[in-house]
Amino acid sequence: MNEKGGGMDSVDVVVVGGGPAGATAAEMLARAGHSVVLLDRDGRIKPCGGAIPPRLVSDFEIPPELIVARISSAQMVAPSERRVPMPIEGGGYVGMVDREHFDEWLRVRAAAAGARRITGTFERIERDADGSAVVRYRAASPAKEEAFGEITARLVIGADGARSAVGRQNVEGAERMPFVFAYHEIVRSPVASKADFDPRRCGVYYQGVISPDFYGWVFPHGATTSIGTGSAEKGYGLRPAVARLRATTGLDRVETIRREGAPIPLKPLKRWDNGRDIILAGDAAGVVAPASGEGIYYAMISARMVAEAGLATGDAPALATARKAFMREHGRVFWILGIMQTFWYRSDRQRERFVAICRDKDVQRLTWEAYMNKKLVPARPAAHIKIFFKDLAHLLRLVSP
Ligand SMILES: Cc1cc2nc3c(=O)[nH]c(=O)nc-3n(C[C@H](O)[C@H](O)[C@H](O)COP(=O)(O)OP(=O)(O)OC[C@H]3O[C@@H](n4cnc5c(N)ncnc54)[C@H](O)[C@@H]3O)c2cc1C
Repeated sequence: MNEKGGGMDSVDVVVVGGGPAGATAAEMLARAGHSVVLLDRDGRIKPCGGAIPPRLVSDFEIPPELIVARISSAQMVAPSERRVPMPIEGGGYVGMVDREHFDEWLRVRAAAAGARRITGTFERIERDADGSAVVRYRAASPAKEEAFGEITARLVIGADGARSAVGRQNVEGAERMPFVFAYHEIVRSPVASKADFDPRRCGVYYQGVISPDFYGWVFPHGATTSIGTGSAEKGYGLRPAVARLRATTGLDRVETIRREGAPIPLKPLKRWDNGRDIILAGDAAGVVAPASGEGIYYAMISARMVAEAGLATGDAPALATARKAFMREHGRVFWILGIMQTFWYRSDRQRERFVAICRDKDVQRLTWEAYMNKKLVPARPAAHIKIFFKDLAHLLRLVSP
């Protein structure tokens, strides 16, 4: 059911935002028997490269028809144009989803579990006479007139993305979230290719002319392809950088379907909740992996942890356990990736070295295993040590790229 319109209502949980985080939290809480409203704005397709790991597919039971392409290798491109292929061994893959269909499928699954969908824009949270949260939202009526609605909730989950209004209004520190600004163009994939393009390969561009502090990408999605870049530098010309990337890959000759951008959070917030009855998940909580910008898996896994903490609604201290659980499981990887981004993405000289390191077969295996399975593999300590010393040698410039 997808309601439009207002009216006073009272439920256990209002989830604001119907992206991967919100839909996951709503589904889980509804399945556990809570009354849940999933409030989502209408219309916009989330700008996103749409790359997801197999771990997400299995953990969240994603049906194969939502995976529009299976990527079997990456090509890392250095400032010198040196190219390093990184094949995925053993039948592994990177799954590509189209967010238009992926997100809607997740919302439909949440509704099938019992969540009530409302199409509307969150405005603010007020308090009733008992101090309970009252979520105020704006809904477009069938006559396209504005209508307002109110829902009283014991718990509000803010899964409303990187610029979360729920967070900014209610959770300390949310307004100071640091971002990478990302922009991409969705193009028609070339058919018989004269372009530098392979439908089963991701291109990853570590070049100062494409991004001064992040990377550029070419992610094939079957019929379409996402070509994008990002930077935390305010005012950096993302559009000219994507135009450059399209020109150098020969993808400037294919049809452009959409041009869009959005911020990517750079760091998990120190607090996800208000100590009472409001908690954040996904981009709203800042849980995107540094260096890669991977956020879909972390949005869904954080939402699961938030839903688990929220199952004890009424127990305010339990809310803080969500962030603790997340950082226990992923904090180390985020920390390592943060350091990687700081060291390797800061100059073309460093980027050249970074791409050179990627030639190492052990580096390739560990990178793919960590990405696909979301685990650092302890079974290969010798490889870790080798990579550590290799990294160190490159950092100290003891070897040339
Ligand atoms: C250009 C780009 C490329 C990316 N590529 C990748 C990638 O390849 N792989 C990857 O894993 N991650 C990628 N990411 C990151 C990923 O898109 C996010 O981390 C992920 O979407 C977070 O999910 P979420 O549910 O927390 O938030 P979102 O997906 O942003 O969902 C938020 C939802 O809240 C709704 N909403 C917002 N405000 C309101 C409001 N006031 N009222 C009601 N509803 C509201 C929105 O409509 C939306 O449905 C990319 C990001 C960008 C910008």
